Amino acid sequence: MHCVVVGGGLAGLASAVWLAEAGHRVTLLERRGSLGGRTIAMPVAAVDDVPDNGQHVFASGYQHLMRYLDSVGTREHVAFPGHMTVRMPGGGTRRSAFGGVAGLRAATGDLPGVTGLDRWRTARAQVTLIRQALRPPPWLDDITADEWFRRIGMPQSARDALWDGIVIGLTGDKPDISSAKVPADLLVTGIRRARETRTPISIGYPTVDLDTLFVDGAEKLFADAGVVVRHRAVVASVDVLDDTVSGVTLTDGEHIPADAVICAVPVWNVRGLLDQVPGHEQIYAAVENLTPVPIVSVNLYLDRSIGMADWGEILYGGEGVLEQVWDRQRMHDRDPSRHHLYSTTVSAAYELIAKSNVEITDIQMRMLRSYYPDAAGATVIHSHVVRMPKSTFAQRPGSAGIRPDQRTEVKGLALAGDWTRTDWTTTMEGACQSAARAVEVILEGSSEDR
Ligand SMILES: Cc1cc2nc3c(=O)[nH]c(=O)nc-3n(C[C@H](O)[C@H](O)[C@H](O)COP(=O)(O)OP(=O)(O)OC[C@H]3O[C@@H](n4cnc5c(N)ncnc54)[C@H](O)[C@@H]3O)c2cc1C
Repeated sequence: MHCVVVGGGLAGLASAVWLAEAGHRVTLLERRGSLGGRTIAMPVAAVDDVPDNGQHVFASGYQHLMRYLDSVGTREHVAFPGHMTVRMPGGGTRRSAFGGVAGLRAATGDLPGVTGLDRWRTARAQVTLIRQALRPPPWLDDITADEWFRRIGMPQSARDALWDGIVIGLTGDKPDISSAKVPADLLVTGIRRARETRTPISIGYPTVDLDTLFVDGAEKLFADAGVVVRHRAVVASVDVLDDTVSGVTLTDGEHIPADAVICAVPVWNVRGLLDQVPGHEQIYAAVENLTPVPIVSVNLYLDRSIGMADWGEILYGGEGVLEQVWDRQRMHDRDPSRHHLYSTTVSAAYELIAKSNVEITDIQMRMLRSYYPDAAGATVIHSHVVRMPKSTFAQRPGSAGIRPDQRTEVKGLALAGDWTRTDWTTTMEGACQSAARAVEVILEGSSEDR
């Protein structure tokens, strides 16, 4: 078969890799000048460096993403240290692990800043939360995560210490926006995966930049397998004839014939592409319901070490949104003789994103100075601010079931992308799981034809 894959982010890359592995002829069409989509490294001439567009953390249940790394030969570049650190204003730290003794302490309500009766209330609320996640009450998708925490009596101190951060980490959005059903489903996915693999949930990180991790190995595989990659190829429509896909048309009018198409564009780019697909109205409904969430990342090149205790630290009680700092020296084994690179991530950065680079840098440095005594006298050699207004998507109450399946009503056409239906939300794993399913749909169709 000649298979066309539209979109060169993780979902499109994994689709193209796995279709090529299955022996098909593949053409990958990407709108931009390079591959990688939302997981990319960016050259910064001022410091002659290529930092990432934002930290991407892994969860131990990311099995499809790991399969992709196996395919492109870079699995060795992910580390799972099994812990992160929560840092208090003033510099105090507490190591948080995701299993073992630390996990047990968290389960009993022993969290930073949670004291007295709140510990007991936290333990009780956590039991209710897990029970309701495993057996969701019918109203769970009608309320926000914020309302859910209030209903089950989760103390504010436990929310500040852990649960609001978990919701933002899992859903990409604030607890007062995200449907309660989304973090509940993800907790169940995590528990199920931990049971299947008999290992506690843990968080990992790439030890190399995102291009080396995701793109370089794929490009080598494409060259070896004869996959045609076309940059700056913008698809305007997926073409359908008699309920069977016939190819795609680019914005310049070129028609590229195909026996199969995987459409792996983000949710905010899909409108218009599938007008010829029966049932496209339902697919487009996702566009209305899955709204973009901004992330602001800053790569701060400083003249000295700020004395981080761990590779990644969550700042307790930051600006009200999840604030994290990443020690690139430790993570990427960088030589600190020229400068020290720290990356900060602000998720759900609705207010921050509108500010100027200078303001954002000032805010981040003020924050670092209040949490890290060694940052007090630090000088910023260079600040690289990355604003991504469309980083992830929010899933609001009432939107359960809105994400479309990879299988479409058109023979030979499958959808992929983090927004299509998977066990995960807007994640790298969601992108790769969707690709695995889309490829399965295409391969099933081809074997039926034989
Ligand atoms: C700053 C940041 C931090 C994140 N942190 C994490 C994290 O810690 N853990 C995690 O799991 N996930 C994280 N994510 C989310 C994760 O990056 C995404 O969920 C995932 O990369 C989405 O992959 P995708 O292939 O579905 O979409 P994309 O990566 O967006 O790829 C889609 C591609 O389609 C192309 N395209 C669009 N329209 C067309 C067209 N008409 N024709 C041709 N090509 C087209 C686009 O240019 C793009 O390259 C983060 C995202 C960001 C931005």
